[in-house]
Amino acid sequence: MTKVYEKSPVFFDTFERKPSYKETTHYCPGCGHGVLHKIIADQLAELGLQDRTIIVGPVGCGVFIYYYFDCAAVSSAHGRASAVATGVSRANPDSVTISYQGDGDLAAIGTSNAIHAANRGENMIVFFVNNNIYGMTGGQLAPTTLIDQISTTSPYGRTVKNDGFPLRMAEMMAGLEAPTLVARVAVNNPKNIRQATRVIKQGLEVQRDKKGYVFIEVLAQCPTNWKKDPKDACEWIDNVVCKQYPLGIYKDQVAEREAQERPCERVDFAAVARQLGLEESPEKPENQIEMIAEELRFKFAGFGGQGVLSLGMLMAQMSMEHDMDVTWLPSYGPEMRGGVANSSVVVSKNKIGSPVVDHPDVLVALNGPSLEKFGPLVPAGGLIIYNSSLIDHVPDGLKGKVYPLAATDLATEAGTAKAANVVVLGFVAQKTNMFELADLEKFLAKSFKKPALLDVNIKALRAGWEAADKS
Ligand code: SF4
Repeated sequence: MTKVYEKSPVFFDTFERKPSYKETTHYCPGCGHGVLHKIIADQLAELGLQDRTIIVGPVGCGVFIYYYFDCAAVSSAHGRASAVATGVSRANPDSVTISYQGDGDLAAIGTSNAIHAANRGENMIVFFVNNNIYGMTGGQLAPTTLIDQISTTSPYGRTVKNDGFPLRMAEMMAGLEAPTLVARVAVNNPKNIRQATRVIKQGLEVQRDKKGYVFIEVLAQCPTNWKKDPKDACEWIDNVVCKQYPLGIYKDQVAEREAQERPCERVDFAAVARQLGLEESPEKPENQIEMIAEELRFKFAGFGGQGVLSLGMLMAQMSMEHDMDVTWLPSYGPEMRGGVANSSVVVSKNKIGSPVVDHPDVLVALNGPSLEKFGPLVPAGGLIIYNSSLIDHVPDGLKGKVYPLAATDLATEAGTAKAANVVVLGFVAQKTNMFELADLEKFLAKSFKKPALLDVNIKALRAGWEAADKS
């Protein structure tokens, strides 16, 4: 049996979410998520289910759950975890499928997904973390916010007239025929944690035995958005929250239920490709670009608003016109406003395995944080192009070949600083030998319909091209 004071073997040895300090999670001090993670991990270990477990993560404070559990994991779009978990569970009938969702994710944005998964009685266990508020986005009113509770979007307190009643999800789920086990627990004090541990273990056993759907609502403390210290937050659950959301087992049909198999149609991918006209052609298209490698992986990074997403899009579209396989994957730095936005682009002569670019062959960094973050990831032989108009410090020890490019200044000379991304396009195209300047100009003519705008962007493109010629 795992001792409660030991770190569970189901957790990773180190948590890579915070590269500078790998011992703790990203959760705030006193947050209920950490307690719940520990209970789940301990019970998975005790039941020997780690290798069968697939966790579907939400959008919300739990979004980085895959950094902590050494299990298979899938991230889902906001509110869609129960739907994604349905697919995961059916496609992997031997798995223990966990859908981990907060109250904004499950009870607001994803209510329909959650209810229909429950109503189908899918083989999955849903952990519904109810802390009465939107945590990650800064404390907005959630469907579960209490009457009179103050949030950033209910500064005078929630009212029934304006916002309706707090949603009791466990009671709703228990009213459905299909679920096997429905309970509400809390992780705010030792007694409640012991009770939560018993229920969670039972829920995981239901998954091990394929006996259907389990919904466990977990009242969890959010000291940050409740504006309370951790101790007061724990007491507030006992004294206030539990009055609205009584703890208990709301439905228990574990003894009566049999193991169930769910239908899972296997997709005939060849048939789908035929339908879509995507069958492999034995001959390589003639129009392909001569690149310095069979495949190039790009990362375009900067502040939101610097045009890094559209820069990646231009590169991808231009390559696609030359019959290359391409992927374009944007990222907005979801956990931090003003963070680094980037787009990952893969251009390949062959089918692309993954759109993720961890170690770019070509990095374009339009601001300092981007260079700091991604510069060290470029391998020897790669190119690092940074915006020397805005960046005056280059980190030591970069392995890639570094090119300063005064992109903002050159774009300003061309007519607008906003065209800095097009300066970069010209520079990158010349340095990678991917496109002719004339081809790029024709492409811009299709993208910018207004003559004045086109003129500025052509100037910016040529400025970047010439800068690459000279460097
Ligand atoms: S905002 Fe609240 S729920 Fe989110 S990590 Fe912090 S304490 Fe936990």
